[in-house]
Amino acid sequence: MRLKSINPATGELIREYDELQWDDVDSALDLSLEAYRQWKRSAFTRRAELLLALSDKLLEKKEGLAFTISLEMGKPIKESRSEIEKCAWVCRYYAENAASFLAPQVVPTEASQSYVAFNPLGPVLAIMPWNFPFWQVFRFAAPALLAGNTVLLKHASNVPACALAIEQVINEAGFPVHVFQTLLISSRKIDNVISDRRIQAVTFTGSTPAGRSVGEIAGKYLKKSVLELGGSDPYIILADAHIEAAAEICVKARLMNAGQSCISAKRFIVEAPVYEVFSKLVVQKMSAAVMGDPMDEKTDLGPLARNNLRLDLEAQVNNSVAKGADLLLGGVDPQIPGAFYPATVLGNVTSGMPAYHEELFGPVATLIKAADMKEAISIANDTTFGLGAAVFTSDIEKGRYMAEHELEAGSCFVNDFVKSDPRLPFGGIKESGYGRELSVFGLREFMNIKTVVVR
Ligand code: NAP
Repeated sequence: MRLKSINPATGELIREYDELQWDDVDSALDLSLEAYRQWKRSAFTRRAELLLALSDKLLEKKEGLAFTISLEMGKPIKESRSEIEKCAWVCRYYAENAASFLAPQVVPTEASQSYVAFNPLGPVLAIMPWNFPFWQVFRFAAPALLAGNTVLLKHASNVPACALAIEQVINEAGFPVHVFQTLLISSRKIDNVISDRRIQAVTFTGSTPAGRSVGEIAGKYLKKSVLELGGSDPYIILADAHIEAAAEICVKARLMNAGQSCISAKRFIVEAPVYEVFSKLVVQKMSAAVMGDPMDEKTDLGPLARNNLRLDLEAQVNNSVAKGADLLLGGVDPQIPGAFYPATVLGNVTSGMPAYHEELFGPVATLIKAADMKEAISIANDTTFGLGAAVFTSDIEKGRYMAEHELEAGSCFVNDFVKSDPRLPFGGIKESGYGRELSVFGLREFMNIKTVVVR
């Protein structure tokens, strides 16, 4: 089988890549293990230096890398540049902060010495999605490599050029060969890699069904796993919120990356007294987004990453409308080449509609009316997902309380949209997965937290 890189803005084939055969994968696994034996013994300071060099290299190559992202998955070029900058940030953050994260922790006991040491695990397999083709990889790889692990990347089949560019930039930064390797294989071959004895752990970012399958194999073979899965983030807009500012932030959060983000604002749950004014503002702001060529600096909304994703989204919107949702904006195939789908707003969404229960991975805002705060919280939590959530209110203490105690999600923001930050842990609960990335928590996921006791 060949992996196809297709420009989603035009539907044209950019290039085809031969998928690796098992013999190639087998030798990559051997090389990863061999590289690990050296890498884990390298000084932490050397690994941190390389991560700083990688941060610089990413910034030096930013234009070319951003072009590769936009060409292959259709993100507006200005967003691709920001993605590369964020990767440079995460590399720098770990290089500058991980010495304290990895330092042994003394725990006084009756023994003469007792402490916790942090050791790497070995080769870690990363199965990654196309939506942030660099960021998803770097937020895992920066801490994993710094900890002394080696990495094998199986990227999404529609972004092979990004996958190879990541391997290249890491090598160009000076990392020893085979510490990071890209495996150009489709998901059909991945079970054999997860179960291979040379792989010590697996991290997966992607949809919930695929995550379930990875978790099943990892469980069977007792491999440590982290699963970063889908989300349907609720954004609660209370009647006392600054409505104009809330609508501005919500629309921005919904349209970023054409709505193809696990932590996009997916369900707007609005208190009844401000429902009408909020929906009008959302329609106004969504309709102002400029849809077009991802390479154009003025574009806010590029195509979806693949045509089948556009068709799936269209079906979810049409089914929701058929079940009684109001189509307030968009929802009509623009009839142009490429996988474009217009900014769309669905009003009066209620339980039983796809837009209420399912993840809508595209530029579609879902408006749900709630009688009061209590009902808004109950609707927000009425989901199988638990990735992010936000609340908008002028009563900061009330917002903070809801974020900390009421909303069932891994990240809760007040008066802002949910975003990942190298300094803070990121991950989900419920069917959004388990484990954490970023911060000290992400670094420790792929480490042996070892107890050492000297009598
Ligand atoms: P996907 O279909 O699950 O694909 C993600 C990755 O998993 C790809 O590399 C894919 O490879 C592979 N894959 C697919 N089926 C697999 C299986 N049965 N076993 C093992 N690997 C498999 O997801 P997507 O449509 O590309 O990405 C969108 C989803 O990812 C959304 O649900 C989104 O919310 C979620 N996401 C979550 C996070 C987070 O941090 N929680 C971040 C980003 C995205 P192939 O391409 O070769 O099939």
